[in-house]
Amino acid sequence: TFVLIVALGGICGLATNRLRQRRNSPLREMRRALREGEFRPFYQPIVDHGARRWKGVEVLMRWDHPSEGMIPPDQFVPLAERGGLIVEMTRELMQQVGRELTPHVEALPSDFHIGINVSAEHCNGSALIDDCRDFLSRFPGGQIALVLELTERELLVRSEHTDHLFAQLHQLGVRIALDDFGTGNASLAYLRQFRVDYLKIDRSFVQMTDDDALSQHLLDTILTLSSRLELDTVAEGVETTAQRDYLTRHGVRYLQGFLYARPMPLANLLETLAHPPAA
Ligand code: C2E
Ligand code: CA
Ligand code: CA
Ligand code: CA
Repeated sequence: TFVLIVALGGICGLATNRLRQRRNSPLREMRRALREGEFRPFYQPIVDHGARRWKGVEVLMRWDHPSEGMIPPDQFVPLAERGGLIVEMTRELMQQVGRELTPHVEALPSDFHIGINVSAEHCNGSALIDDCRDFLSRFPGGQIALVLELTERELLVRSEHTDHLFAQLHQLGVRIALDDFGTGNASLAYLRQFRVDYLKIDRSFVQMTDDDALSQHLLDTILTLSSRLELDTVAEGVETTAQRDYLTRHGVRYLQGFLYARPMPLANLLETLAHPPAA
């Protein structure tokens, strides 16, 4: 067993080690990748359980590396944030999503949500509002709704600037989802100030449906809180029918997870959306 664990550890560490061993620093390697268009959108559908239809997608970034293969975001997003590259990468991602989705807009359900993960740094200056305006200008019929996912792990500090920014986003019709809800400590005042429309319950809480009574109690507290706030709730990381049943019984309407679909490239997404959700 010991040998096996070491071997697995070796394989899992391989991609990062190779990146580290490059003569180029990881940040320079990311700048190169950005120029080459190697950061690609994957899409994970979100289900409207009550209506038995697809509500939208979350866009999840992948690094399609020429020699390392598909690299997941945990391995490069934090570095991109620290290195000041994330805003440019997100802008590029939004442009790609806009470009590749517009030809298929007729195939999308009405009021289709497109969720983009946004880092706190993007909320400085006017970059975010410009990027959202550019994105929405590709969908002049208003067939889609743009949802920005802001993580509760990285709470924004309120200022005149953020007040103005969120008012402008609101005017554009952009909706805000508080991501990883339950892992941070956003207050009711915070949710109001930032005009949050959706709460996304973190996967770690969704997994608690399977655990002991104490964990379930914690999950119930989160669910009660979100229903009291009268915000629409999305549960992420739904993997089993037991989890689905527990969540829907407790008033969660929107579900996202491997039970329904994994993150996938556009071609597969279009096939998936052609049929109603199975589970
Ligand atoms: P997140 O925003 O919480 O995204 C949900 C993550 O859960 C995704 O991981 C998704 O693939 C995964 N997931 C969805 N359903 C299930 C499930 O049923 N079971 C399990 N085990 N996992 C599930 P992914 O794609 O690896 O992304 C990880 C994180 O990287 C994201 O967490 C987000 O914080 C960050 N990220 C991804 N794309 C971007 C981006 O474009 N910009 C920024 N700033 N961050 C991004
Ligand atoms: Ca997210
Ligand atoms: Ca969210
Ligand atoms: Ca999460």
